[in-house]
Amino acid sequence: MLDLIDNRHRTADFLGTRASFIQDRIRVLALVFAGILLVWIGVDYFSIPDRATVAWLAALRVLFAALYLGLAFLGDKPHDLPRARLKLFVLVTLPCLFYIASRFVLEDGAPPSALMVYAFFPFVTVAQLGVFSLPLLEGLALAAPAFMTLFVVEAVFGDLVSLTFLGNVTLLVLLTCLALWASMSELQMLLRLYRQATRDPLTGLFNRGALMERTRVELDHTKRNGHKLCVLLFDLDKFKRINDAHGHLTGDEVLKTFAQVLEQALRKSDLVGRYGGEEFLALLPRTDTVDAERLAEQIRTACADAEVTNPDGDKVRFTTSVGVARLKPGETVEALLRRVDESLYQAKEAGRDCVILAA
Ligand code: GH3
Ligand code: MG
Ligand code: MG
Repeated sequence: MLDLIDNRHRTADFLGTRASFIQDRIRVLALVFAGILLVWIGVDYFSIPDRATVAWLAALRVLFAALYLGLAFLGDKPHDLPRARLKLFVLVTLPCLFYIASRFVLEDGAPPSALMVYAFFPFVTVAQLGVFSLPLLEGLALAAPAFMTLFVVEAVFGDLVSLTFLGNVTLLVLLTCLALWASMSELQMLLRLYRQATRDPLTGLFNRGALMERTRVELDHTKRNGHKLCVLLFDLDKFKRINDAHGHLTGDEVLKTFAQVLEQALRKSDLVGRYGGEEFLALLPRTDTVDAERLAEQIRTACADAEVTNPDGDKVRFTTSVGVARLKPGETVEALLRRVDESLYQAKEAGRDCVILAA
């Protein structure tokens, strides 16, 4: 429920994906609005008799269409949520500003029917919030400019104590509620699907697909910034024996307990997932070999100390072998994983329950 109100505590991965899809939708809406703004110059020409007003409006329309085109094509940055939020804010303020400016132009020389069309803008502003899967607080903040516009225009050109104003505010509140409801419902569905698509159902860690995708993003980032990065590959020792001796359910409990050990030991900025059946991969950004080895050793000991209870009430202990590798300059994901896999193999060869650093 909290997820639908505010999204600060969601994973960077989800927020990044959401940022990209917000920017994609902004582009579509901005192009549609730019098109409508330009096409409507013709409608103004035939519906407003005063030529000076038509010329001013046309200039305004061209200016705002250019701003929309700028919004559609400039400054996109995938996975950047602050950027997506900024663009969303511009998307909701543009129709409001256009409406206020057009009211100044239309003040003299426009028939009431033309005014009515322009009065739709605050409503369009909140209606478009329905397609962005926004949490409640973000949606409310983005609806605020529409309410302010309605208030300012009515205060300057109309009457704040009128039935028209009351009717318009009620309609805007109603539309905002519907748009935010649609937005939050979509967000809820997205969150559920996102979880199913990226998480391993048993341990709750990233599944292999999501892990590899994030690994590539993290490696690109590391290379661009010249940072260090280490990876740890874990494989539970003689796990088949645990399954055979205590049953698969106990084996599953071991996997869950090991996932908890990993989550407790790793930082929030580290990336960890289930790489295979009883194999887990952790990515440690901005970490040197010494710290990575120390962390691997700490996890190995925590694992050896952990225990689960089998259906007969007996304690089951388990151990892990760990491979450690530091990213070399220019190295590909595949080459790095091959090296860490080799060091894990060496750890198995060396008798298991130990940490081996890759060459
Ligand atoms: P080693 O020390 O060499 O790694 O031996 P191992 O027995 O751990 O290695 P092996 O690859 O032979 O066995 C892995 C076992 O993990 C086999 C498979 O049945 C089990 N396994 C894989 N996924 C799951 C799972 O989700 N739950 C359970 N209970 N077992 C699983
Ligand atoms: Mg294995
Ligand atoms: Mg194993």
